[in-house]
Amino acid sequence: MDSERSSRISSVVRQLAEQERQRLRAAGTFVELEELACEIGDEVARQLLAGELTERSDEVAKSESQPCPDCGQASSRCEKQHRQLDSLRGKIDYDDPAYHCPTCRRAFFPGSRLDGLVRQSHRNAETR
Ligand SMILES: [Zn+2]
Repeated sequence: MDSERSSRISSVVRQLAEQERQRLRAAGTFVELEELACEIGDEVARQLLAGELTERSDEVAKSESQPCPDCGQASSRCEKQHRQLDSLRGKIDYDDPAYHCPTCRRAFFPGSRLDGLVRQSHRNAETR
């Protein structure tokens, strides 16, 4: 990891440690301390993932039409749908605009870019 990023993360960790001081001090064993640190780290990872997924979805949602990833036909946007993904650090919730292809009679999310990203990294791990 580059030193600039490490330095930025150190700053966030100091803030988290101050805010979680009571819980960290209450940990009576190394295992309890480790579990708390992992719980906090997992929440940070989930929030980073949800934020990035939401930003990408919002960018795609600006377009009324997206090409279908299967047939390439212009497909119109439907409403946003709540999605939940299983990540290595727990469930990620976000809203995603769905597009519907009348030819393939299928919905896809949100545009082929993110849909492809999710398919590649999670294959069948999606719960919705
Ligand atoms: Zn299609």
